[in-house]
Amino acid sequence: MAELEVNLTRKYDAVIIGSGAAGGMAAHVLTSHGLQVLLLEAGKKLPIEQELRSMEWPYDNAHRGFLPPDSHSLSFNEYTIRNPPYGPGFEKSKHLHSYIGSSDYVKNIVVDERENPFTGTNYAWVRARCLGGKTNIWGRLALRLSDYDFKAKTRDGYGEDWPISYGDIAPYYDQVDLYLGITGVKENLPHLPDSIFQRPTKLNCAEVTLKQGIQKMGRVLTQYRAGVTSDGLKHNKYRSRCYGRGACERKGGCDIHAAFDSPTGLIYPAMDTGNLTLRTNSVAREIMVDPQTGKASGVHFVDSQTMKDYNVRARVVIVAASTLESARLLLLSKSRLYPNGLANSSGHVGHNFCEHVMGPGVAGRAKDLVGKPPTLDDGRPGGFYLTRFRNLAEKHPKFIRGYGFEGGSGSAMFPRGTDAHGFGASFKEEVRKNQGAFIGMGAFGEVLSRYENYVELDPVVKDKWGIPSLRFHYKFGDNEHRMAEDMKETAQEMFEAAGFEIVHVNSRVLTEGWSIHELGTARMGNDPKTSVLNQFEQSHDVKNLFVVDGSAFVNASCQNPTWTIMALCWRSCDYLAEELRKGNL
Ligand SMILES: Cc1cc2nc3c(=O)[nH]c(=O)nc-3n(C[C@H](O)[C@H](O)[C@H](O)COP(=O)(O)OP(=O)(O)OC[C@H]3O[C@@H](n4cnc5c(N)ncnc54)[C@H](O)[C@@H]3O)c2cc1C
Ligand code: SF4
Repeated sequence: MAELEVNLTRKYDAVIIGSGAAGGMAAHVLTSHGLQVLLLEAGKKLPIEQELRSMEWPYDNAHRGFLPPDSHSLSFNEYTIRNPPYGPGFEKSKHLHSYIGSSDYVKNIVVDERENPFTGTNYAWVRARCLGGKTNIWGRLALRLSDYDFKAKTRDGYGEDWPISYGDIAPYYDQVDLYLGITGVKENLPHLPDSIFQRPTKLNCAEVTLKQGIQKMGRVLTQYRAGVTSDGLKHNKYRSRCYGRGACERKGGCDIHAAFDSPTGLIYPAMDTGNLTLRTNSVAREIMVDPQTGKASGVHFVDSQTMKDYNVRARVVIVAASTLESARLLLLSKSRLYPNGLANSSGHVGHNFCEHVMGPGVAGRAKDLVGKPPTLDDGRPGGFYLTRFRNLAEKHPKFIRGYGFEGGSGSAMFPRGTDAHGFGASFKEEVRKNQGAFIGMGAFGEVLSRYENYVELDPVVKDKWGIPSLRFHYKFGDNEHRMAEDMKETAQEMFEAAGFEIVHVNSRVLTEGWSIHELGTARMGNDPKTSVLNQFEQSHDVKNLFVVDGSAFVNASCQNPTWTIMALCWRSCDYLAEELRKGNL
């Protein structure tokens, strides 16, 4: 792709902070409007295909795909007995990663917890500091939100409505679908609107049994809606179509980029317009403000390798560092004009922090599949999604909002779910006989947005670059725990309805943060007293400042957020370009 020289003496039209789903989308939209854009990314540009090695066999890897012995990734139990910062207690390990960093393929993608500490309440904070951020390894489930989410307060009285409705964002979801590619099947559900799908994957035998078994309960199971191009994208030379190589489930990403990632999906095509300059290893530490106008004037950043400080000027600043990092940056950007941090006259920056609660689920066995010949079931980028069914037509007596399940079944490269005991030939025979009959699913539920769940700057602890860390004040509440109880019960009830033998029931709630769907720390709204951004993700206080990632969410819904982050960002950047053209910024 065309690489432009970074020129820190000029004033760019826009500077974007962060190159994940949000920053990549902002770069795509703004450069297509002809703006001259600088993209600052804190991490490195990794030789990503060499990192991911999607087709490497376990026996070709020195550690069978796991981390080298000098590295450690935190387990569920460790999260429960240790408190952040997660360095102390792990002195024997040279590198320490969050729970997701347990494979050799992601060790350079996810951050080292010691270099990036945080304090406060327990949180499994998964961060990817490299070009493309978390999109290099995301799970690909690409779902839309609906007015059940955007107008949730109108339905149940809790929290706030979004300042937009589904109709406002629907055309942008369509554009994201067409530009990036998504697989799935139309279901015509009002609470989970359909996308413009490419060729879908197929459900396997046990998944179809579950789908049919729960139909009589009025519940819907559909093919995994994957942010993957199954037919290919003629307009993108950096991405291949999906060849169903079955590598998706191995912790790591897709090295032929059939699964969406921000660099090949958005950033390289934006660079090819000749309008995008990329600077990696650039850790933004403050958004600069013009004391005369009160407007954002540029970004102060540190080179992560040389530790040198730089400033860059721009007409508009776009924050896309991911929900928690964006809040941190706004809080760091204190000045005489903005003593509480930038865009924070409401006092809501860092607050209303929400996400998804995970853990409860079930594993079972389709008895009539035991002993059947193996089939190629993992040659696809996802299994199934069982859609929300709570608090739609009826009101649940114990909790508000809803949850959905992600799951899968069938033969896989690494036999799943088998509970076989023993060793030797009889053990192998037992595993072979049962492995294709296993089916499992786990829930993702909405965590309510609450002002009391928040992050702030830690007064003492700093990261490797001397930048104050975040301190967390975040816990699941009663609604989440009551919902988790229900997840466990309905999971079993549905497996029983499908005639599966239940092998294992998961009732534990995983550590806060496990879903990697953090949202809401600079929410949008119509009232500047209770929200940080307007419906175009533009700061109420500082007109030329936009925050275009998950921070802007008003609630978490129970649907995975990335497709919505990108659709909202596209809408906001169209607005931004028009306002800039009119001279309003
Ligand atoms: C294993 C895994 C599975 C997931 N599965 C799904 C899924 O199935 N569906 C779904 O919808 N979502 C999923 N997600 C979440 C999804 O990846 C995120 O929603 C998405 O990447 C958010 O985009 P973002 O741009 O806000 O943040 P990121 O992708 O994290 O990008 C932020 C970027 O900003 C950079 N940055 C941070 N601070 C600074 C700074 N100070 N200066 C400069 N740059 C900075 C970071 O280095 C990073 O590159 C998953 C994530 C993971 C890790
Ligand atoms: S199954 Fe498709 S999306 Fe997944 S790794 Fe293979 S080619 Fe990529």
